[in-house]
Amino acid sequence: MDSQLSTRIMKSVDANFDRQVDFLAALVGCASLRGDEEPAQDLMQTAMTEAGLAIDRWRLDEKELCSLRGYSPVETPYDGVSNVAGVWRPRGRKGRSLILNGHVDVVPAGPLDKWTSPPFAARIADGWMYGRGAADMKGGVSAMVFALEALRCAGLRPAAEVAVHSVVEEECTGNGALACIARGYRADAVLIPEPRNGAVTSAQLGVMWLRVTVRGRPAHVREAQIGANAIEAAFPLMAALHRLEAEWNAPSRRHPAFAGLDHPINFNLGRIAGGDWPSSVPAWCVLEIRVAVYPNQSLDDAKAEIESCLRKAGGDAISVEYHGFMAEGYELINADAPLGVLERAHAAAGGGELARVPTTACTDARFYGLYGGMPSLVYGPRGAAIHGFDERVELESLRTVTQAIALFVAEWCGVEAA
Ligand SMILES: [Zn+2]
Repeated sequence: MDSQLSTRIMKSVDANFDRQVDFLAALVGCASLRGDEEPAQDLMQTAMTEAGLAIDRWRLDEKELCSLRGYSPVETPYDGVSNVAGVWRPRGRKGRSLILNGHVDVVPAGPLDKWTSPPFAARIADGWMYGRGAADMKGGVSAMVFALEALRCAGLRPAAEVAVHSVVEEECTGNGALACIARGYRADAVLIPEPRNGAVTSAQLGVMWLRVTVRGRPAHVREAQIGANAIEAAFPLMAALHRLEAEWNAPSRRHPAFAGLDHPINFNLGRIAGGDWPSSVPAWCVLEIRVAVYPNQSLDDAKAEIESCLRKAGGDAISVEYHGFMAEGYELINADAPLGVLERAHAAAGGGELARVPTTACTDARFYGLYGGMPSLVYGPRGAAIHGFDERVELESLRTVTQAIALFVAEWCGVEAA
């Protein structure tokens, strides 16, 4: 791309950046927790309409999704939960098509008193915007919309189809992105601006959520020896799972894309409940656990190993069920063309050399990559304390990423005068 054109595009991002930051603050102000995503999607619909995109908004339908590969079971029904896509269709297609994907759902913020300021009131300090979802990933969501808005304000239009997918459910199932695949969206490449500190993701792990129920035998504490304490029986289960986790992290088991990481696989006991009364031996305990798998590990094999590990430690007292994430790992392959364009765009925006880094989390890239056959690049701004207290996104890195995405669209899709 000639430098005059790239300068024009980057200046347009600059000119809109205050407006982008205001939009991001408003989006952070929508507490788009599971079940409360609609106000955030309303904002997205308005912003995408203003950016000149045609709107396709539809409700998630569990019945339609549940038989598809990549589906994760849901426990709360999808009452009125919607995806919003903004679509640009050029008059005559010349360039390569693109999907930009971002999720508006966020994870819970509690306990709230541990935040310096309220998590759903965006605050800017020292060049960072603070708030739940500011980094994961409303910052990136603002970048994909304002990259297209910058082109429009610069008097340019993409010369190929661009679809912006604003999805829900990324943090628990991925069924929002799956619904985009089911709706027929395909493109020559996909870009997902998750917070990646200006690097592009070379591979991501898969994730499963399991719920382990331990049954005990209740008794009055005065004769605790005739009871069976379900909560204490959970301790060795987690210890056994951590031994399996260590096995999977051993260099001999590590997937080559994760060879450089010491501890890519993390098993996390994220929620626990059990017992009814301090003076009763507890008859039940429920553990909700997140496990990770490599891209070359089948979920069925992983389940079999995990269940056998749990049975050895807990015997017949336990049962295992799966809820939420049933996500396979994904390695970025056959992506030289979009990677080359992104490298040039990132460098032109002042980001320097584009690093390729594996991530130990999962993202919606798996749906587009594994089930849609599209090379799916995950690349986005610098964030901190993601899923933690005082989550934040660095605004200068957000500007760089927005410029890089605008340049990526311009080179990948081509642009023409509006
Ligand atoms: Zn995310």
